[in-house]
Amino acid sequence: MRLPVLLAALVAVATCTETFVGHQVLRVVPQSDEELQKVQELQGLEHLQVPAIPSHRNQAHPTDPIPQEWGSPHRSHPMGIRLTPSPVPQALVDEERSRQLPLTTNTFNYEAYHTLDEIYNFMDMLVAENPNLVSKLEIGRSTENRPLYVLKFSTGGSNRPAVWIDTGIHSREWVTQASGVWFAKKIVQDHANNEGVASILETMDIFLEIVTNPDGFAFTQTKNRMWRKTRSKHSGSICVGVDPNRNWDAGFGEAGASSNPCTETYHGPYANSEPEVKSIVDFVKSHGNIKAFISIHSYSQLLLYPYGYTTTPAQDEKELLSAKAVAALTSLYGTKYTYGSIITTIYRASGGTIDWTYNQGIKYSFTFELRDTGRYGFLLPAKQIVPTAEETWLALKVIMEHARDNMY
Ligand SMILES: [Zn+2]
Repeated sequence: MRLPVLLAALVAVATCTETFVGHQVLRVVPQSDEELQKVQELQGLEHLQVPAIPSHRNQAHPTDPIPQEWGSPHRSHPMGIRLTPSPVPQALVDEERSRQLPLTTNTFNYEAYHTLDEIYNFMDMLVAENPNLVSKLEIGRSTENRPLYVLKFSTGGSNRPAVWIDTGIHSREWVTQASGVWFAKKIVQDHANNEGVASILETMDIFLEIVTNPDGFAFTQTKNRMWRKTRSKHSGSICVGVDPNRNWDAGFGEAGASSNPCTETYHGPYANSEPEVKSIVDFVKSHGNIKAFISIHSYSQLLLYPYGYTTTPAQDEKELLSAKAVAALTSLYGTKYTYGSIITTIYRASGGTIDWTYNQGIKYSFTFELRDTGRYGFLLPAKQIVPTAEETWLALKVIMEHARDNMY
């Protein structure tokens, strides 16, 4: 079984793009925390090339395309691992690449996945079309010196209470950046039509970072569609990248992250080592008036709140607000969501974004895991982008309105 893998490697070198021909999707169904831990440890075994973290306990989730040498379909493995027939990953990757060049944000194709340049071009068009509402801030530079852009939506005032939304901190979660683009247009439209979030914009600003990990995103476009981490290099390891959702200064380096640079959940050499994280930390601190912070991931259909690194329950009324937000989301297309704290709903995760923002005093700190529950996973078909964004927006609106009406 080594030959197909070798050939795939040769093709990858020739084209500079990793293909997933001959790969399959691995379903991991850990039944306990111990099994979950064991499966996560497999990532550290480099020769196995396990590229993804397993998801929940007691729930079947495919991870990523896996080299064929893992075995044939239906073969049983220990620890609840099953190999199952699945959509051909490469076909899904190819489908994502068909898109059209946009001319204005009205003719922009929201039903397609776009490159980094196309998304940056979209931002510039949106700012140019709506100079009295939208501006573009550069809050820092990535490891590879790409600008870290944040769109600011404001009807005036200075340092108003604000909502922060970020998408794409994990680069392969493409439906999140695509949803971020849709959110940006939706905010502009609501403001123009004096509906929806227009009333929120009367008293609050909205900050939206669409491509929060641009180096990783560029890498998913050109080299490896399944890249999750940043692209930083750290001495002492040949492996590249840090998990930017384990790099925050909240339980940093504790259980729930890996100290192995070759794993998907490597926390980095120290908290805030990643400029993509540090830029947000600096922005949040210097702004000082952010009241709701929402970090958007995919996939699993979850609405999560702190904590991930400790079982200490977060105070406040997060359950009630989550129930309301999820009900609004589900009302549109019936998409079912689960909600709860990170540690009780998925697993222990340390150094996460919203644990840090919550500890900074941002009471309304949430993470979404958007569609789906694993049929397509990170390769969600483009025709699901707009429905995903639409339903998510209803939940975001509930959280934003709650923050506005319960200012603290
Ligand atoms: Zn993620």
